[in-house]
Amino acid sequence: MDAPVFKGIFTQQAAIPEEGITAALAVLRSGRIHRYNTLGDEPSETALLEKDYAEWQGAEFCLACASGGQAMQIALRAAGVSPGDTVLTNAFTLAPVPGAIAAVGGQSVLVEITEDLVIDLADLERKQAQSGARYLLLSHMRGHLADMDRLTDMAARLGLIVIEDCAHTMGATWAGTRSGNFGLAGCFSTQTYKHINSGEGGLLTSNDPDFMARAIILSGSYMLYDRHGAAPAEQAFEAPRLDMPNMSARMDNLRAAILRPQLASLESSILAWNLRYDAVARHLAGCTALVLPTRPPQGRFVGSSIQFRIPQTDGPRAEHLLERWKCRGVEVKWFGRPTATGFTSTHHDWGYLDRQDLPRTDRILSGLFDMRLPLSFSVEDCDVIGRILVEEAVWTESARSSPTRPSAPAGPGPE
Ligand SMILES: *Cc1c(COP(=O)(O)O)cnc(C)c1O
Repeated sequence: MDAPVFKGIFTQQAAIPEEGITAALAVLRSGRIHRYNTLGDEPSETALLEKDYAEWQGAEFCLACASGGQAMQIALRAAGVSPGDTVLTNAFTLAPVPGAIAAVGGQSVLVEITEDLVIDLADLERKQAQSGARYLLLSHMRGHLADMDRLTDMAARLGLIVIEDCAHTMGATWAGTRSGNFGLAGCFSTQTYKHINSGEGGLLTSNDPDFMARAIILSGSYMLYDRHGAAPAEQAFEAPRLDMPNMSARMDNLRAAILRPQLASLESSILAWNLRYDAVARHLAGCTALVLPTRPPQGRFVGSSIQFRIPQTDGPRAEHLLERWKCRGVEVKWFGRPTATGFTSTHHDWGYLDRQDLPRTDRILSGLFDMRLPLSFSVEDCDVIGRILVEEAVWTESARSSPTRPSAPAGPGPE
């Protein structure tokens, strides 16, 4: 049988919609790129994006920021985190999360994860008791949602202020509630590899007017906070207006202009991602070597990437399999590498944190693989990818149980 090689590019995103390109050109022609550079009562594209996003998210307030990382830093500071304060966060996340905690002088205490790649609630309770932490920056890493009913109950019981990192859950819901609406604030990223793409960018949402007034001042609003699209009433700014430092983390009109049409079509992008996820997952579900995390029925996920585990793998075997997948054009990332590679890093690479003992997370990460599913891939492409993932994994497994194990990729597998 043939052994197809996949030709797609894993870092190729979908093009910006024509409407966004037209809107971006209008901003460029006007020269008014800064969000506060408006004429008369004209709302800026940034203010309009804030209004659109608040509406879409079902949150009262929204602030557009320079990045998702900046949204988290502002959120932590506006929530009251002071230098030296402990902030709990799940150990499986992206570097900007512990980075945001460090930026506000916080001390990250990392919480173990489960086999389903979500925060381990028992360990959360334990670490909260040990540290006395008042803050949880909950990262829905790669779109995996914890049991948000149990989590919010626990947070209320422990007096934890929850800020959600929704970089991979823009558009996801738990029991009908949008991710980002469970705690004090939701932080979103519009960086190129997330669900809407402006190169860099972030959005912060909340229903708390005092929190949002502080956040808006922190973002660098000067005294122009009345030019925001989804801000609290004037009186909320009276207390914080002179107390909050200007952190200069604003979004600009060019980025907002290309984001608004993408937001308008986000729902169809989500459906498209989930078709692609399912096309890959179908193959993996029939393969005992590759274990997909369980996604509970209460969650509505956005399948913009896929993760799977090979529970009993070791370094050489994982490297061998990665190489075989790569030979067939399928780029897979692995969280078990001893050092950070590209975007993929673990808590062992975050040398500015106190060393933390996370045996369960380490065991899970050592067998955890990860792949983007950009919308530039067709569903048929994803079907081919799923097939290649399984064929090579099965081939490697059967080679392992035979007496002579190949030490290097030897071309396409037997089937
Ligand atoms: C991308 C990302 C962020 C924020 O990233 P920015 O590049 O700062 O926008 C936060 N958390 C996770 C899990 C991410 O993947």
